[in-house]
Amino acid sequence: MDNKVVSIINEFRGLSAFINNDIILLENLYEVLAKYFRFDCLGIFFNSPDTKHDNNLYLCAKKKIDFENINNIFFDKVSEYKQVLRTKYHLIHKAPLDNEVENCSELFIPLLWDGVILGAIGVYYSDEVIIDDAELFNFIIEECLRVFKLKYMFSEQVYNSAIDGLTGLYNRHQFDIAIEREFNRAERYKTNFSLLMLDIDYFKSINDTFGHTFGDYVLKEVSQIINKTLRKTDIIYRYGGEEIAIIMSETSSENANLPAEKLRKEIENHSFNNRNVTVSIGIANYNKQSTPKDIIEQADRMLYKAKQTGRNRVCF
Ligand code: GH3
Ligand code: MG
Ligand code: MG
Repeated sequence: MDNKVVSIINEFRGLSAFINNDIILLENLYEVLAKYFRFDCLGIFFNSPDTKHDNNLYLCAKKKIDFENINNIFFDKVSEYKQVLRTKYHLIHKAPLDNEVENCSELFIPLLWDGVILGAIGVYYSDEVIIDDAELFNFIIEECLRVFKLKYMFSEQVYNSAIDGLTGLYNRHQFDIAIEREFNRAERYKTNFSLLMLDIDYFKSINDTFGHTFGDYVLKEVSQIINKTLRKTDIIYRYGGEEIAIIMSETSSENANLPAEKLRKEIENHSFNNRNVTVSIGIANYNKQSTPKDIIEQADRMLYKAKQTGRNRVCF
C-alpha cells in the first residue's frame, strides 16, 4: 500500500471516535476531505433512522455562496432516496466569507448502504470540481461510507433506546427528560407549553373481551392516529400502559383544546376492525409558579375529571 492510502486509512479510522457528536465529527471530516478535494463549501448531512429528527445540512464554507439554494438542491437530491423533513442549514464559517461566488459547480455524493441513505456529501467550488485521480476518489468515498455507516448505527442505537417497541412513540424516559427541558425553556424564554394526558377508555374491558392482541392493535392504531392528526412539533410519548402524553410547545390550554378535540373525534369515528374505541384527555398548561411534577399532576387531575364526567371528552 502506498503512503497516501495508509495515511487516509489512519485519518478515517480516527474519525470513528467522534460518531456521538455531529459537530466534532463533521469538523474533523472537513479537515480530512480538505486535504484531498478543492472546494469553497462542503455540505455534510447525517441521516437518522428517527423520522421526527431534524435533517440538518451542515455547510462548512470558505466563500459566500447562495446557501439557501444549495440547501434546496441538496435536499431535492436526498429526496430521491428518502422523504425528509427539510430544516434550515447550519453554516460553519471556515473563512470570513467576504468573497462571493456567483456560479459554482457541485458534486453530490449520496452514501448508501443496502438501499438506505446513511447521509450525503456536497462539494461546491467556484471552479470546476475535478476528480483527477478516480481511484483515490473512490477510495475516499469508501472510507466516508464506513464512517457514515458507523454514525448511522450509533443513531439507530440512540433511537431504539428512546422508542417504545409496541407503539413506536417515544418512551417514558424520554418524556421525563423532555418535560424538564420544556419547563426550563418556558422559564428562560418566557414561553408557554401544554401537556396533554390521553387515556384509552375501558381498555381493561377491551383486553378482557377481545383479547390482548386486539388491545395491542388498538394501542398501535391510536398512536398512529395521534401521529397523523397532530402537528410535527407536538411530541408524543407512551407515558404508561395505555396512557399517552403529548407536549405541545408554545401552546396555551385553550389552543391545545382544539387539536385535542379533533383527536378525540378522530378516534371516536375510527373503525378498529369494526369496533369503537374512545379516549379521555386532560390538559394542563405551564405556569411559572409550578414544577414539572405539578404540571403532570394537573394534567392527571383533568384526565380524572374527564373520566368522572362520562369519558370520551377533553378537560382543561
Ligand atoms: P378507564 O376508562 O378508567 O381508563 O378504564 P381502563 O379499563 O382503561 O383503565 P385501567 O387503568 O384499569 O386499565 C388499563 C389496562 O391497560 C390494564 C392493562 O392490562 C392494560 N394494558 C397496559 N399496557 C398494555 C399493553 O401494552 N397492551 C395491552 N393489550 N394492554 C395493556
Ligand atoms: Mg384507560
Ligand atoms: Mg390508565
